[in-house]
Amino acid sequence: MYDVVIVGAGPAGSTAAKTLREKGVSVLLLDKASFPRDKTCGGGMPTRVWKRFPYIEPYINSLSYGSDTYSMSLRYKLHVLRDAPMLGMVLRLDFDAVLLRLAVEAGVEFRPQTGVVDMQVQPDRVLLILSSGETLEAKVVIGCDGANSLVAKKAGLSSSDDMKCVCLVAEHPMTEAAVEAMYSKQRVAHLFIKAQGIAGYGWVFPKKQCVNIGIGEFTSAITTNSSRRSLKETFTLFLGSLKAQGLLPEDFLESEAKGAVLPIFPLKKTYANRIVVCGDAAGFINPITGEGIYYAMASGQLAAGVVHEALRADDFHAGFLKRYQQRWWKDFGRDLKVLGGFNKQWGKNSERIVRLLVRDRKLAKMAIGVTGGQISIARYRGLLYLRVVYVMLREAVSPRKAA
Ligand SMILES: Cc1cc2nc3c(=O)[nH]c(=O)nc-3n(C[C@H](O)[C@H](O)[C@H](O)COP(=O)(O)OP(=O)(O)OC[C@H]3O[C@@H](n4cnc5c(N)ncnc54)[C@H](O)[C@@H]3O)c2cc1C
Repeated sequence: MYDVVIVGAGPAGSTAAKTLREKGVSVLLLDKASFPRDKTCGGGMPTRVWKRFPYIEPYINSLSYGSDTYSMSLRYKLHVLRDAPMLGMVLRLDFDAVLLRLAVEAGVEFRPQTGVVDMQVQPDRVLLILSSGETLEAKVVIGCDGANSLVAKKAGLSSSDDMKCVCLVAEHPMTEAAVEAMYSKQRVAHLFIKAQGIAGYGWVFPKKQCVNIGIGEFTSAITTNSSRRSLKETFTLFLGSLKAQGLLPEDFLESEAKGAVLPIFPLKKTYANRIVVCGDAAGFINPITGEGIYYAMASGQLAAGVVHEALRADDFHAGFLKRYQQRWWKDFGRDLKVLGGFNKQWGKNSERIVRLLVRDRKLAKMAIGVTGGQISIARYRGLLYLRVVYVMLREAVSPRKAA
């Protein structure tokens, strides 16, 4: 019987495996894919990812020193350019393979092309049934198997009603010179809130030798209006708008785009007897930006700490593993909760919000800090609200001056 089996070798699984191994625990890491494997993703990361995990810094593909955020009508644009990087870009094909290699180099046993098709939690062990028909036994399982996690489902932690974000995204190759000509040397990232009626946002992420273009719609923000366009139709309109703004490479093909889903709210419970779930499997995504690599790695790290303690105590009951939930809540959970409140109002007043951000640099700085995770919204919510009220009052009292 294995002490720990980790299902899924994305950022969550590789981080959990590496952390456990470094604590001296023997770990089996499984993935249904063989690596390098691609993951449909924007690949944009705020600076806090490599502040917390400095070993990943050499593997960042490129840095963006600025961002343009557009209102729905494109009338307002918040342009920010900084001397320090705002975002790091990664290619998931390479990045995930590196994280896995680092785990294997730390001594983790990895089995590729090993899909888990069923799981049974018994009083004294967990049985994992593989696509090959083989059954594995583990004292404890860490579910890092992504947005449609089998581990979370079989442990009774997730349901099909959980809110999702549905996306279309393409990573289009370009020469370095072409990237810099179109998006500047600072590789400015472009974000379009509700552009072309997207019930979410669209993005353009320039990287070293490619550009990542996509849209994501929140199921919480999609209206039930039957005349609504399909995601593909909205993507076509979005590309048309990028073309008109000179932000779409000439040879970009719409057919390059791939579909994907991501969760937007954390599961109510992320542990059960002998089970913990991390990353997308647990629903750890910034519900405003769709950013999840940070939370995947952070939760993998926290889960590894708790599972290590469980092994030492020889206690795998939910009552013991509950401390995992307490730790992620304290670490990033409160922020996700507050941001989740904004998601439920997605798009309401977005025109006005971008206009206020354009007109007040201090408010813009706070908003960028909050969405990028440099500022804790749970801690600074009061200050942010006060600033919004101040800017709105200033506009009401002196509209021409504010304009
Ligand atoms: C369109 C899109 C854009 C995004 N853009 C960004 C972005 O710009 N920045 C950002 O930070 N985040 C972004 N995200 C979110 C980010 O991709 C995820 O949060 C992150 O990949 C989560 O990591 P993970 O390890 O939890 O899961 P994953 O990376 O999904 O890895 C899960 C692994 O589990 C394996 N697996 C699944 N089922 C099984 C099974 N039954 N048996 C064995 N193995 C299994 C899979 O093969 C996979 O390798 C985006 C997501 C999408 C969909």
